[in-house]
This record gives sequence, structure tokens and C-alpha cells, in this order.
Amino acid sequence: MITVLFVILILTSSFIIEINMQQIKNTKEELRNVNNLISQFGDNIETKIDEMPNIKINDMGIRLTLIDNDGNVLYDNEEKSTENHKDRSEIKEAMENGEGYATRYSDTIKVKLMYYATRLDNNLIIRSAVPIKTITVLQKENIKSYLLILFIVVLFSIFLSLRLVRRIIEPVKELESVTFKMANGDYKIRANVKTNDELGSLGSSFNNMAEQLQIKIYEVIEKQNKIESILNSMDSGVVAVDNNNNVISINPCAELILGIKKNIIGQCLSDYITDYDISSFIAEEDENDKEIKILHPIERDLKIKKSEMINGRENIGKVITFQDITDMKRVELMRSQFVANVSHELKTPLTSIKGFAETLRFVNDNETREKFLDIIDKEAERLTRLINDILILSNIESNLVADVEEFLPGDVIDDVLNIMKKTAASKDIMLEFEDSNSELILGDRDKFYQLGLNIIENAIKYSKDNKGKVKILSYSSSDGYYHLNVTDNGIGIPKEDVPRIFERFYRVDKSRKKGGTGLGLAIVKHIVKTFNGDICVESELREGTTFKVKIPYIYS
Ligand code: ADP
Repeated sequence: MITVLFVILILTSSFIIEINMQQIKNTKEELRNVNNLISQFGDNIETKIDEMPNIKINDMGIRLTLIDNDGNVLYDNEEKSTENHKDRSEIKEAMENGEGYATRYSDTIKVKLMYYATRLDNNLIIRSAVPIKTITVLQKENIKSYLLILFIVVLFSIFLSLRLVRRIIEPVKELESVTFKMANGDYKIRANVKTNDELGSLGSSFNNMAEQLQIKIYEVIEKQNKIESILNSMDSGVVAVDNNNNVISINPCAELILGIKKNIIGQCLSDYITDYDISSFIAEEDENDKEIKILHPIERDLKIKKSEMINGRENIGKVITFQDITDMKRVELMRSQFVANVSHELKTPLTSIKGFAETLRFVNDNETREKFLDIIDKEAERLTRLINDILILSNIESNLVADVEEFLPGDVIDDVLNIMKKTAASKDIMLEFEDSNSELILGDRDKFYQLGLNIIENAIKYSKDNKGKVKILSYSSSDGYYHLNVTDNGIGIPKEDVPRIFERFYRVDKSRKKGGTGLGLAIVKHIVKTFNGDICVESELREGTTFKVKIPYIYS
């Protein structure tokens, strides 16, 4: 608006100046013409002027003055002034150059006048004068139209500025609302500014920035998710704390180990650790790893490690990892127990062999010697069996990749029975085999042979002599399993021993003196596991026992 008003002011004033100058020029020209006309009059000039019709310039009458060489007024058509005109600038100029011109305020008639003097041939000077009618802006007759024009111009400029403002403000508003939405997490939003000006390029730069921001934020989120899913799937507990011991991050495994059931991010870790060993380890500066046993919430063996979290050069906290080593510890314990058991089991027959062999030196009697030699032979045999079983067990436990093949389990049981036939016959035990299975199973055939051998051997071993009967059932069920049931009518197993018979070196009653190693069923259990199967036992003391094995067969 200010610009528009300023322009109007400048334009109007220059226009008025131009008009006025034109007016002055025209008036001067007209006065000159009048003088030229009078210069033609010749003698009796005063009378001729007097008789001249009234000439008007701009509707104003002309004042004509005739002046002689000395500045004396000879004639004036308006006033009879006697004042000498010699010093008037236009007269001076006319005397010197033939023509003179001046504008001056006339005190006599109180207006500004233009004077034009011309020297005549007889050296008189004729001077014509007329009031100058200049235009001023705030003249009464102009002011109305001037205000109207001003009003129209102001209206027009308001209309134009509104349009301009709208063109600028609307894209800015659009950018502002998009920025607000982005700040609130909507990274997909884009500004719809499509003009070809600076705002348009600002809009496209903004969209470009939003695009980059979106990519960067998605990258950060993806990284964060990856770290989180790695932490969540770890089977070790990880806790990160800042320098004030406030939790920055904790994974589910750490929550489980420490028995924390709520979100403790931002809270002090020590408030949630009840175990003294853990909290003193975290507080301790020098110790970096430690093995401890906790009792709550579950009894566990833990290996805790602590390391500093460095960002650039600054230490921003520490990371504590909890590794559950309960299983490892148990295996370690089992291993040492196994070694102790093996040594003990081996020691018994060896002591016996050593003792009888030493005594043998002093025995002269043939019959006693034979008896002793028999005992030594039996013990050696037992030692061999024991070592064989230990080797089989360790072979299965070490999970060496065996030859996996598809085979018909009935054929393997047939092979076992062929071997066992003689032993059964010697004890007068009846072997009965019913095989209705036609499904193949997948696994190590030799191991399945060992499984059948151990169960059937036990059934024969723990059967009553003469009246014994061992029944072997081999069939498959529609739920995808092959079943092998071995039933005997032997001595049975006491109820309290049933859960333990699959343990290594466990024998129900050491006084049963059947020469067993206590490893047979442990081996069976391991083999069943390698076939992804299951084994259970049903037994009635003095009535008999049934071992039931089920193994998934291959769908044909
Ligand atoms: P062992 O070499 O002593 O037979 P096993 O591991 O094969 O060792 O068996 C463990 C124990 O389970 C045996 O000591 C035995 O007392 C008992 N047992 C196994 N099979 C039978 C069965 N068919 N009838 C009765 N007792 C059995």
C-alpha cells in the first residue's frame, strides 16, 4: 500500500509539474506573439493598443505596458503607473537582447504574473503580462476526482495484495502443517507446493529433506529392531546401565533370570536385584567376570560378565551379561560322577581277579584251582562286558554321525532272536514273536539291533528259569508310530525302582547277581532318543515286565 501511495504521489506531482511547465511555455509563446503583433503597429502605437480588441490568454486579460528607453511608462492598459520600469529584469533583458522574460509576484494585483518584453524598432519596449494559472493538487475542483481515483487505486491494490498474499501464505501454511505432522511422527507426508517460484523450490527441497529424513529414520528403526530382536532371541541375559546405574536396556532372558516382571527402563537396577552376590559384583570395579549360584527366583548357576560401554571416548555406562550355566554344571557333575562310577564298577571285578590270582599261587588242590580260575574267567568276562557297554554308551552319547538308513524293524528283531535263541533254549524259556508291521523306520540299523538285543536279553535274563516266556510284539499304529513291546513273566521290578532303571549303572537289586552292568537300559534310552522315539516300562513284581518302545515310521 505504501509503495502504491508513493507511486501515486510521485506520478501526480511529476504530471502536475509537466502540465504547469507546458502551461508556462504556452503562455510565454502567446505573450511573445502578442508583442510581435504590437511591434507591427508603427506610429501612434499607444492609440492603436488602446483600440485593440481585448486579447485573452487562459481566459485572462493581458496587461500591456509601453515603456521608453529610460524605463518610463508611456502607456499601461490597466493602471497609470509612473514608476520607472528600468530595473525590471525582463525590461533590462529586452533592452540588451531585444526580448526578455520574467515571472514575478505582483504586489499590486496579488497574483503571480508572467512578463514578456520585446524591444520595438523605435527602441520603445512593449511588455505584455498575464497571471500564470498553475495547477495545484488540492484545488477544490480536483480534490473530489483525486479522492475517487485514490479510492479506486487503493481498492485495486488491496485486491492485488490479497491475491499476492494468498499466493505466498497458502504454500507457507501448507509447509507449516506438513512440518507439524512430520514432527508428530508422520514421515510419509509430503508438501503439495507446486508453484514455479521460490516457494515451489522450497517445497520440493522440503519434500526432498523429508524423503531423506524418512529413509534415515527407517534405517535407525530397522537397526534398533535388529538389535532388539537379537537381544530378545539371545539365551543369555543382557542388561545395559548408565553411569548412575539406571537401566538403558534389558532383554527378556535377563528379566527371567533376575525375576523381574515389569518394565524397569530408566530405573535403578540395584532396586530390583535381590541377590547379594550379583549386586556386589555389579558394584565392584575390579571384577569383570564371576561364576555364582542364585537361589531366587529359580536355583541357577550363572556366569556374569561386566564390560564398559564406550561412546567415542566417553564412558557412558556398562553392559552386564548373565549366562545360565546350570546345564553345563550338571553335565560336569554327571561326568565326574560317571568317572567315579566307572572306576568303582571296574574296581570290583579287578579286585576279585587280583585276589583270586594271588591266592592261586598257593593252591595245590586242582579242584579249588579250577574253581578259582572259573571265578577269574567270569570276572574278566564281566569286566569285558562292562567296558563294551561303556564304549557303546560313550559312542551313542558322543552323537557320532551314524549310517542312517531305512529298514524294516522286524528283520532286525529276527536277527536278535536268532542270536538269543540258544540262550533262551538253555534256560528253557519260550520266545514268541508276532510281527504285523510293514512300515519302515529311519535310523542306524546297528543301534536298533543293540536296542532289541538289550531289551530281549534282559527279558530272558530276568525270566524265571523253565517256566519263562518272552513275548515280542511288533506292529504299527495309524498315528505314525512303530511299536515294539517285549513282555516277560519274570521277576518284575519294584515300583520304587521303575523310575530309575534307565540311569547309568543302576541295578535294581545288586544281589540279583545276574551279572549285569546297569548300563543296558541307559544305552536303550539313548538309542530310542536317536530315533526320536519314546520308551516306557510297565512292571509287576514277580509277575513280569513289559518294555514298550515307540518310534515314528516313514510315511510311504
Ligand atoms: P543290567 O545290565 O543290570 O541288566 P540294565 O540297565 O539293563 O542293567 O537294567 C537295569 C536294571 O533293571 C537291572 O539291574 C534289572 O534289575 C532291571 N531290569 C531290567 N529289565 C528287567 C526285566 N525285564 N525284568 C526285571 N527287571 C529288569
